[in-house]
Amino acid sequence: MRVTTAFSRLLRLPGVWARKVRFEPDRVVVEVALCRRRLICPECGYSTVARKDRRRQDSVWRHLDLGVWRLEVHCRRRWLWCPVHGARTEDVPFARAGSQFTRDFEGLVAWLATRTDKSTIRRMLRIDWDTVGRIIERVCDEELDGDRLEDLYDIGVDEVSWKRQHNYLTLVACHQRRQIVWGCEGKGQAAADRFFEELNQPPGERALGPSPPPAIMTAAGPGASVPIDAGVQGAWLLDGEELEPQVFARADKLRAVSMDMTGGYAKSVRTNAPQATICIDPYHVVALANQALDEVRRSYWNELRSLGDQNAAKRFKDARWSLLKKPEKLTDTQASTLSRLKSAGGEVWRAYTLKEAVRGIFQAGLDLEDVTVLIDRLLSRLSRSRLAPFIKLGKTIRKHRDGILAAIRLGINQGRTEALNNKVRLITRRAYGFHSAKAVLALVLLTCGPITLHLPHELHAHETG
Ligand SMILES: [Zn+2]
Repeated sequence: MRVTTAFSRLLRLPGVWARKVRFEPDRVVVEVALCRRRLICPECGYSTVARKDRRRQDSVWRHLDLGVWRLEVHCRRRWLWCPVHGARTEDVPFARAGSQFTRDFEGLVAWLATRTDKSTIRRMLRIDWDTVGRIIERVCDEELDGDRLEDLYDIGVDEVSWKRQHNYLTLVACHQRRQIVWGCEGKGQAAADRFFEELNQPPGERALGPSPPPAIMTAAGPGASVPIDAGVQGAWLLDGEELEPQVFARADKLRAVSMDMTGGYAKSVRTNAPQATICIDPYHVVALANQALDEVRRSYWNELRSLGDQNAAKRFKDARWSLLKKPEKLTDTQASTLSRLKSAGGEVWRAYTLKEAVRGIFQAGLDLEDVTVLIDRLLSRLSRSRLAPFIKLGKTIRKHRDGILAAIRLGINQGRTEALNNKVRLITRRAYGFHSAKAVLALVLLTCGPITLHLPHELHAHETG
């Protein structure tokens, strides 16, 4: 067998054959040629036999390593003239447009990024972290299920911070599928409005990236003189005709939207999906209770320190996790710390029992009636607690009582939403090194979204030859 034939089979790159192989000190270079005669626009798939010119230089892609060798694919590409996009270098079937890596290499990067940490990937694949970011953005753009915004009924909107707390992503989860289905940079009402804008895009305009504001039609047809948001929806239709029902129906299908207690998302939901019930995600309530407990613990700790009791202060600082973790998850040492705190009694212990009471209302197996009784009992306990952080917590819970009960009634499952949320937080922490929000979002969607990633050998498994 000739060396070039052997390399054609080894590389398994679709649509090309190996012309030449050469070994350089630190790499193997395989020159390939495209099998097809037609030139294809990388942006739109337009194809033609007419070529403008051939590039004077080879394009280079990195492919999967060959043993310890770095492997480069070189190909002389041609120019074409696309009626829409103008002069373009032709598309190659083995790599995504604009990439310097083959699809197989990018597939491996994406798969690893969802499973392991930054330094492992960098060292194993010999690429830097921002390159990983750009690769997963491309993979995510291509692999994300285009129908992910269809048939959403119960969703959750939440934000997560990345890179030192000041950068936020807003994420939308589908409770039924337990997946993140949408995300954008930013937080609050504006971010939720962007979600609804995309959700309500007419089918023909979907999946074309960020949408322009919808044109409003009047009885006289679309007109430049009619400002956005003016005019009447459907005014151009003849009597008896109706709007295509699915065009405006995606937000109308929403039954419940769960969120935190800050209010921005609720405003957007009331405007864009007024029929949906606003629910408060139980884990946000529990998180607030943990914050209140931590405030009480910290002020007690400061008091100990100011009294000069350094030993007690240190012991107490270590008690943080004993107090904040779920009792069933404590280590033996933490459990004994907790029982010491119990016998000591006082404010901190009282704060702890209040926190546990908040957690208690969301236990599995309670029905709406049980929870209603528990939450009202809890509210009166909190108001009489004489602990400022817990009195404040009580006021917040009272204000959102209906939303909390709605979550229980509609079965927004605390365990599952919390599990997805924890996964998202873990992933965003791993993504801290990325410089672009798009890369962070891509990693979240690749890991928690409607995408199934395959390794190169799994994708090629059914091929022969
Ligand atoms: Zn084109």
